[in-house]
Amino acid sequence: MGKVHLHDRWFEPFITPQELERAIDRVAGELKQHYAGKRPLFIGVLNGAFFFAAELVKRLDIECEVSFIKVASYHGTASTGKVSDLIGLNERVEGRHVVVVEDIVDTGRTLAHVMSLLAERHPASLAVATLLFKPEAYTGTLPIDFIALRVPNAFVVGSGLDHNGLGRNLPGIYRIVQSDQTASS
Ligand code: 5GP
Repeated sequence: MGKVHLHDRWFEPFITPQELERAIDRVAGELKQHYAGKRPLFIGVLNGAFFFAAELVKRLDIECEVSFIKVASYHGTASTGKVSDLIGLNERVEGRHVVVVEDIVDTGRTLAHVMSLLAERHPASLAVATLLFKPEAYTGTLPIDFIALRVPNAFVVGSGLDHNGLGRNLPGIYRIVQSDQTASS
């Protein structure tokens, strides 16, 4: 894994694909234990969560359903905090054990909004599973139930996460290189 250039910025290797796999194995084990026999409904938040949702459910040999929704809150490398309504949710949520699947929880604003919209539909239970969590950036109050990996407060790409559309296909996770560092390397 070497540095990669996406649009105007450089990114350096941060989490290897193997580390990520191990973390997903662990969190999948936790989910399996918790939801066996409950037929959970996993709701991935697009676009970023496509990778984690797929990696997660292929490890879950329990009865479960998978669906995806879309919201929009991020432009460039800073969270705008603006979130639109849920798009694409056709499944009946009432009475179901719902697990929202996120690529990353940063400030937690997107998640709080998604969770409140889903809570209005009266699920039997509502939890969140995220590939990455930035504890230093999190300003929310909801517990983050299932976390694959905690990361510092830096902009990252790879494994579903993008920089203006690029980088979602990178294996593992890459961290942004500050402009002054790129100039000297
Ligand atoms: P929040 O509402 O928690 O601040 O932001 C959540 C959304 O912002 C995530 O679903 C993701 O799309 C985007 N986001 C937050 N931090 C990062 C990051 O470090 N890298 C990328 N690529 N997207 C991020």
